[in-house]
This record gives sequence, structure tokens and C-alpha cells, in this order.
Amino acid sequence: PLLDNVLLLKRNMHLRDRQQTWQESSEGKEMLAFREKLPAYKERDSFLLAVKRHQVLVVSGETGCGKTTQLPQYILESEIQAGQGGSCNIICTQPRRISAISVAERVAVERGEQLGESVGYKVRLEGMRGMSTRLLFCTTGILLRKLMADPDLKGVSHVIVDEIHERGMNEDFLLVVLKDLLVRRKDLRVVLMSATLNAKLFSSFFDGAPLLHISGFTYPVNIHFLEDVLELTGYRFGEFDQVDDYGQEKAWKMQKMMQRSKRNPLVALAEDAIANADLRKYSGETQLSLSQWNPECFGFNLIEAVLCYICKSEREGAILVFMTGWEDINALKDCLMRNPLLGNPSKVKLLPCHGSMASADQKLIFEPVPAKIRKIVLATNLAETSITINDIVFVLDCGKAKETSYDALNNTPCLTPTWISKASARQRRGRAGRVQPGECYHLYPKAVFEALTEYQEPELLRTPLHSLCLQIKSLKLGNIGDFLAKAMQTPDPLSVRNSVQLLKTIGALDDEEELTNLGIHLANLPVDPRIGKMLIFGAIFSCLDPVLSIAAGLTVRDPFVLPVEKKEVAEAAKHRFGRNDFSDHIALVRAYDRWKETMDAGTAVDYCWKNFLSFSTMQVIHSLRRQFEMLLRQAGFVDPVPEYTNQYSKDVNLLKGIICAGMFPGISSAWTMDSNTKYKTVEDGAVLLHQSSVISKIERMPYPWVAFYEKIKSGNILLRDGTAISDSMLLLFGGKLYKSERAGHLHMQEGLLQFTLHIPFAEVILWLRRELDNIVSQ
Ligand code: ADP
Ligand code: MG
Repeated sequence: PLLDNVLLLKRNMHLRDRQQTWQESSEGKEMLAFREKLPAYKERDSFLLAVKRHQVLVVSGETGCGKTTQLPQYILESEIQAGQGGSCNIICTQPRRISAISVAERVAVERGEQLGESVGYKVRLEGMRGMSTRLLFCTTGILLRKLMADPDLKGVSHVIVDEIHERGMNEDFLLVVLKDLLVRRKDLRVVLMSATLNAKLFSSFFDGAPLLHISGFTYPVNIHFLEDVLELTGYRFGEFDQVDDYGQEKAWKMQKMMQRSKRNPLVALAEDAIANADLRKYSGETQLSLSQWNPECFGFNLIEAVLCYICKSEREGAILVFMTGWEDINALKDCLMRNPLLGNPSKVKLLPCHGSMASADQKLIFEPVPAKIRKIVLATNLAETSITINDIVFVLDCGKAKETSYDALNNTPCLTPTWISKASARQRRGRAGRVQPGECYHLYPKAVFEALTEYQEPELLRTPLHSLCLQIKSLKLGNIGDFLAKAMQTPDPLSVRNSVQLLKTIGALDDEEELTNLGIHLANLPVDPRIGKMLIFGAIFSCLDPVLSIAAGLTVRDPFVLPVEKKEVAEAAKHRFGRNDFSDHIALVRAYDRWKETMDAGTAVDYCWKNFLSFSTMQVIHSLRRQFEMLLRQAGFVDPVPEYTNQYSKDVNLLKGIICAGMFPGISSAWTMDSNTKYKTVEDGAVLLHQSSVISKIERMPYPWVAFYEKIKSGNILLRDGTAISDSMLLLFGGKLYKSERAGHLHMQEGLLQFTLHIPFAEVILWLRRELDNIVSQ
């Protein structure tokens, strides 16, 4: 221990010397001068004092005031200054990978260091930290995983949870865990950081923890709603429509609208949509009618028009466009590249910005551009609060947001585009006023803005909870229902019960709600448990390669694109890949395998174009496959002998069995009557297959079952994807079908009966399944 103490003292001194040398160097002084201008600096002392005095502190402040980059750094600096640098251990969580990495990079630069010295980061499968790292930026998921191995967070002195106003599921969950932990760890310090002003909510959750507000300065921003935008830009419907691939059908609808009403068609459509739907309670259906006028759906014409207008007639300054997701951003970029002005690289620099971007590309967003060149950043809601781009003067806001599907990797299931809240709209607006007075163009009418909710509903209340339930179990937090009842806002007990039921059905939890061996493995794989199970089965049965593609495709999105006016040709293309196997999932496998070949031959872009595949989605699938394989390898599921890993990859029947294992209990029965195939599930009764499914194109269905992953509700219940399977595949790889609490009781009995009658030797199935579970557990 004496030697340890001496070493620690030495380390403390070393850290202090380094910090001092940097702060006294000319570059260091310059950096310090920049940092001292940030609004957070004025609160430095009161912040540090509050952290010393209180176990929990809630800090709020405008985006860009310096919360993320400065506050954790203040703690680090003061500990080092006090000669305690060696023993502090600060963890700051970020909701997204991209912000964890970019913030760590920035803080290292501000401290005149390389990443991995006193400042590091860790996101899943990637990281940069060293022995001397004292401040670690990580995703919230990483900290939750650390808690699994070390429930007391031994050695951690400060936990800073950033962006809590977003009310992400992981963050809400972490707060409950921390609240428990604080009782046991009296020395632990927790700082919560939030952008908007609902900070009181968090303070009262932590029994009245003190609040610190950082007031910042922003310039005024002029607000334009759609009515205004149309007038300003002189946008005439039809002007840009020739270049557009997607909008034909809508163009036609619009023309009819125009004939019917004298109003401007965009505004008219929007107003009609509002009249027909209560925005606050939109369901699948109302969303469809609202999306009819959504600017993104017009082949981006309106966005193009506004961008041209700004470039031609407005003052200098960068433009930030808020889009819903990664897919839209790529499509919009392609579309803008064809515009003579916006596609001209000597006049305009187009920069996409989303979570799945490589970190090198990310940096470009922050870099200033040469004079006379207009910088246009196309971003997801990532640019709303987590990253700050300094030179923005103009903001375009499409009004919707979606979690990028890539984030699904962090245990967040894929979400559809939904309306943002008023708080988000204001936040987006604020991005324009950072360096000078700005302009914000909301591409929706004022009436829509008025109808938006004040704040977004917490993720915990609107997403399936099965991954979370698994985590609760694996963190040994006791009864799932009891634990979730302690959250800031308690999720619907029915939704909790449904999730627990699903976990039991797939064999992750036993009847006593304890983790099974399979459950332990699934909790360690950061993907949806059903996909995790499919991956494990793929590895165990030496049929990994195709399963990797399917798992990646389901996690990202369908790579098949179906443009409205070329729908039939596009569907035929997809059909070619999947018809022999009666499977959408295997269609994806075939499409990917061929893509890989064309990549090697250098013809992949052409191949994608001809087969209506999204090239960029293929790329993400490709990299996700590698990540999945690595995860399975780390968990010890992949056979060390390479020949064995894919010994049975070409066996379609086995593959279908594995798909069935992963999709279960997503099973629908199928029977053909008068050359008409009908489908039925236990939960919902009669269902339909989505038009884009290759199975829906097949005349006589030779299989009695369809395994599906996703169903959507728009009037009827539609199965989005499917793989036709035989009795024996269901027998061997399926499981016991459960009784849903959602459907009516009587109806359920009937459904269940249908199923049991269909399956011969029900006892045999159960026995085989138990055997299979045993194999998996070993
Ligand atoms: P907050 O977390 O309060 O939104 P940040 O700490 O992220 O604010 O950013 C504070 C300031 O630091 C920003 O206004 C910006 O000027 C600067 N900044 C942040 N990241 C970078 C970067 N990567 N490059 C240059 N400047 C940056
Ligand atoms: Mg921040």
C-alpha cells in the first residue's frame, strides 16, 4: 500500500504539471480564452461548490452554453489542481455514439492532449482510453453494461448524465438505478444535464436536488411558417417537380386539390389534415393523411426551393436542414446534387450529419468553409441539442423526427417519423441564432405548430420494453414491475406484462421471471432479444452467414426501395430474389450476397439501381453484419474453426427453421381457399400480408405457416415481412404460443384452438423445444 500511495502521488503530480504546462503555453492560453467566453464559465465556481456539497445536482442551460464540454472538464481540472487527479474517475454519458466520440475529441483538444490520455471515450465495439484516463465519455448503454458487472460502480467518483431532457429510455432507466445506488454510495456524485427548462421534474425525482441554471446569450431569430415560406420563395407548385422520382402520384393529387380550392395546395392539404386528425393522438392512419403534405414527401421540392432562395437572395451564413433520418438525408442529398446551383461544389458544400456516420466525416461539419461557398448541413435531430455547429444562420425544419435505425443497435427499436414537440421546434429554431440574428423556416403551417405537444413523451412510455426488462433482470434489480414503478413516469403495466410475456415465450425468462441461460446470453447481446436469439441459433447450427444478413436487415431497415410510380417494376425485382424460397428474409440474403459480388466487381451502384436496392442501406447492413459477428465471437458462440461456422449456410430448410426460432411467436397460419390465401394469428385473428412482401405475390401458398417479424396497424393489421415455413420447421424451432392479454378472451380461445388443431403431436413439439433450449443453454 505504501508503494501504491507513492505511485498515486507521483501520478497526481504528473497530471498537475501537464495541465499547468498546457495552460501556460500560448496555444493553451488561446484555448482558455475561448473557453472563458462560454456562458458556463461564469458558473464555474458555483457549479464546483454545488458538486462538493450535494450528492445530486441538476444543471440546465441553452444548447451551446458549454455544459457537455466544460462541466465535466471543470471537475477534472479542479481535482487535478487539488492534487487529487489520480483518484478521481468521472464518467459522462451521452445518448448517442457520435456525440460521445466527438465530445471526447473536443475536450482532449481543449486540454492539449491526445485522446486516450486524461480524456477518453467508450462506445460499443470502439473505444479510446488509457491507464491515465480520468474522464470518460461513453454511451448510456455502456454505463448500464458496466453496472451489470459492477453494481456499486466501485472507483467511480462522478457520474454525469447528459441530455436527460430527451427522456430516452436508457437515461430514464439509468436515473432509477442511480437513485438506488446513491443510498449505498454516499460519496458518489451525480450531475444531470438538461437543455430545456423542464429541469424541475428531475430535481423533484431526486427529492428536491438543487438546480443550477446557466443563462446564455442568443441572437433573435426570425420565424417563418409554411404560409410565409411559400410567399418568400415564390414557390409555385410544379416548378421543381420534373426532377423528382417520387412525387408523381402526389403531384397528381395536388393538381386536383388546386382545382378544388383556391387556397395554396400545401396549406390546404395541411389544414385538411389537421381538420381530420387530432395531432396529439395520431395513430398509424392519421399519420398517413398528414404525411400527404409533409415536405419530405414532395420529393424534397420545397426544401430545394427554400435552399435556392437562401443561396440567391439571402446574406451569408451556413444552413442547417432538419430531416427525419438517415435515409431521407441521403435521398435529399442525391436530389440536391442534381440542382444546377446546389449541386455545384464551387458554390455549395453539402454535408450530411447523422449518427451512423464515420467520425472522420463528422469533423467536416464543424470546419469553416472558404468565403463564397455556402455550407449546407443536412442533419437529424442529432443537431438539435447534442452537437453544436457554430456558423449556422439559417434553419429549415421539416417538423418530424425519427430515431435513426442505426441506434436500434443501442437497444432502441426502430421508430417511424413522428411530429416533434413544441420544445423541439423551438430548440431547432435556436440553432440559427448562435453567431448573429438568424432565420428559421418551419416547413409546416402555423396551425400545425400550435397543435404540437409541449414536450415529447418519454421513450419509456412509447416503446416496447422487452430489452429493458432483460436488463432489469440481469442487473438483479428484482421484480420487473416493482422496479419500473419507481421510474419518473411509470410505463403502462399492460405493456410491461406483454414484454415479460414475450420474454417468457421466447425462453429468456422462466415461469418465475428469472433469467434462463438463454436470457443471460440475450441480455449480453445489445440487440432486440428476438434478433439475438436468431443470431445465437445461426451460430450454433453453423448457418451464420445468411442469419447475419437477416439480423442486420431487420435492425436497419428493408434495403428494397419501392418508388410510388415504379412500384410494380420494383416489386417484381424483389420478387425475383425471394420467390423460390417464399421468403422476404431470404430475398434479402440473396440480394446482399449478390451485392457483395458486385462490390468486388465494382458494379454495385449499377446493381442497386437496377434492382431497386438502396446502396447506402446495403453498406450499413454490411458493417452491421461484421459488428454482429464480433459480438457473437466475444460471447463465444462462433466456432473457432472457420469451416464450421458456415457449414450449413446453404441449407434453406435449416435457415427457415432458424428464422422461425427468431420470429417466434410471430407466426401466422396460412390457408388457401378458392385460390385466395388467408392469414390468421393468435393475437389478432385475420391479418393481411403487406403488398411489398414477396409472399403476397404468390398464387398458391404451399406452406401452412408464415413467420414474421413486424406487423403494422393501418386500418387492417398488416404483416410487413414473412418467411413461409412448414409444420416441421414450426415443430422443431417454434414454441408454445401464448395467450395475449390484448385480444378478447373468447376470441383468443378460438384462435388457440385453431393453432393446436393445426399442429400434430403438440407434446412432441414441447419436448423437442425443451431439448433445443438445453442445447442453447450449454
Ligand atoms: P452544450 O453541451 O451546453 O450544448 P457544448 O459543451 O457542447 O455545449 O459546446 C460548447 C461550445 O463549444 C459550443 O458553443 C462550440 O462553440 C464549442 N464546440 C463544441 N464542440 C466543438 C467542436 N467539435 N469544435 C469546435 N468547437 C466546438
Ligand atoms: Mg451538450
